[in-house]
Amino acid sequence: MPLWLSILATNQHVMIPRKDFSKECHKVIEWIDEYFRQLEDLPVKSPVRPGEIKNALGHMESDGPDSLSEILKDVSDIILPGMTHWQHPNFHAYFPANSSMESLFAEFITAALGAQCMIWETSPSAAELEEYVLDWLKPHLGIPEDWEGVIQDTASTATLAAILTAREVATDFQSNHEGVPAGMRVYGSTETHSSIEKAVGVAGIGRRNLVAVGVREDGGMDPESLREAVEKDIQSGLRPFCVIATMGTTGTVAIDPLPKIAEVCELHKLWLHVDAAYAGSALLLPEYRWMAEGLEKAQSFVFNPHKWLFTNFDCSLYYVRNADALIRTFEILPEYLNTSTRGSVNDYRDWGIPLGRRFRSLKLWFVLRGMGMEEIRSIMRRHIELAGDLAEQIDAVEGLKVVSGPFLNFFAFRTDISESEETNDVLTKSLLERLNASGVLFASHTRHLERYVIRFVVGQTYVEKKHTERALSAIKAEWSRIRVLI
Ligand SMILES: *Cc1c(COP(=O)(O)O)cnc(C)c1O
Repeated sequence: MPLWLSILATNQHVMIPRKDFSKECHKVIEWIDEYFRQLEDLPVKSPVRPGEIKNALGHMESDGPDSLSEILKDVSDIILPGMTHWQHPNFHAYFPANSSMESLFAEFITAALGAQCMIWETSPSAAELEEYVLDWLKPHLGIPEDWEGVIQDTASTATLAAILTAREVATDFQSNHEGVPAGMRVYGSTETHSSIEKAVGVAGIGRRNLVAVGVREDGGMDPESLREAVEKDIQSGLRPFCVIATMGTTGTVAIDPLPKIAEVCELHKLWLHVDAAYAGSALLLPEYRWMAEGLEKAQSFVFNPHKWLFTNFDCSLYYVRNADALIRTFEILPEYLNTSTRGSVNDYRDWGIPLGRRFRSLKLWFVLRGMGMEEIRSIMRRHIELAGDLAEQIDAVEGLKVVSGPFLNFFAFRTDISESEETNDVLTKSLLERLNASGVLFASHTRHLERYVIRFVVGQTYVEKKHTERALSAIKAEWSRIRVLI
């Protein structure tokens, strides 16, 4: 036994005073095991009404302590009914936030270590593993070799960091001190994610200075309209400084044409940030690498392993061409954080907004090592194939029509049964409500070309053919119930 382990063994009760970890922990593991066993039979979307859970919790009966068994019983009886099950194989809503056994195990350890990884000194391994994992992934994603990466909590935070850095660069690092000059302009397409609008507001640019550029038929930003919008603003005395391109829009997973957008950005010296929150994972598949064409001309890039890379929420990777600009934007140096290693290591608190940081790289490392690239790729390809097959089968149902995709593991559909598109909107909405109330699956909706459509994503880690078949049966059953009513 290594020395450190024997110290741990003999000092167990010093490390965890009062509580017997090894005696208790199996209860939690058993609870989780039982949850996974029941998961497929639970209603995917929680059916509870507002306030129901809070009422069921009642009043705190006492000031505790309650036994772990009592608490776990309440988790089963009160909390679980109010959960929407994101790891259910028939979770098809929004984008997935999938997970894996590997990720879960790492989260146990992360919580056990309970480290606060704000600077290198507060946990050198956390800083160095983060640097290592992000470097290691670069060639697999097609990220230029000289870029550097950092883990953020969410894509919203990474994009805010991008806009703030772009703002500082454009104002010669004066805005942090002097405030933001009026008339600075950011551009995205009409399909950009709502987090962009939020970030532009928070960054003091003013939401009305986010310009929504029109899209082409495929839903990707029209670079010609971008160029016109930028030039018109320059002529009006405004200050264009940043463009947000989306690789995989939230509505319909459209891909903005990066090479053409990058040309406009180069011409007018604009920061190009690429939001690939969802579709970025697919860059691991060589057959989708074309999506990153032109990325080498951008300044920054974000994608979420917590969506479609088996790493449980939260883990968002933010890569930048110039880490110095990022650090200069966020660096603040109180004396108590001025360490002797400063400058020779990465102090990631200077790479984003919060000071405190979780040890997030550990779960990504577990996933990449424990699953391996081949398994990761094969699961993603299975998702893409299942979505493609299901889309085809839905399209073959009389009165239903796939109106977007399938692309990657996404498609959208609606009914075309009526001559009136308004009626079709109502019927599609009713179909979705029935499906979600059935408990069999959970899907969400959006507006596509003004019309109400059901968005459908097949992305839970362990989803198989039998689950998409179950979804198809439910769709057919609910649809035939609606048809007898019309
Ligand atoms: C999901 C998503 C986001 C937001 O991601 P968070 O990590 O939840 O902030 C931003 N952009 C796109 C394109 C997305 O799909």
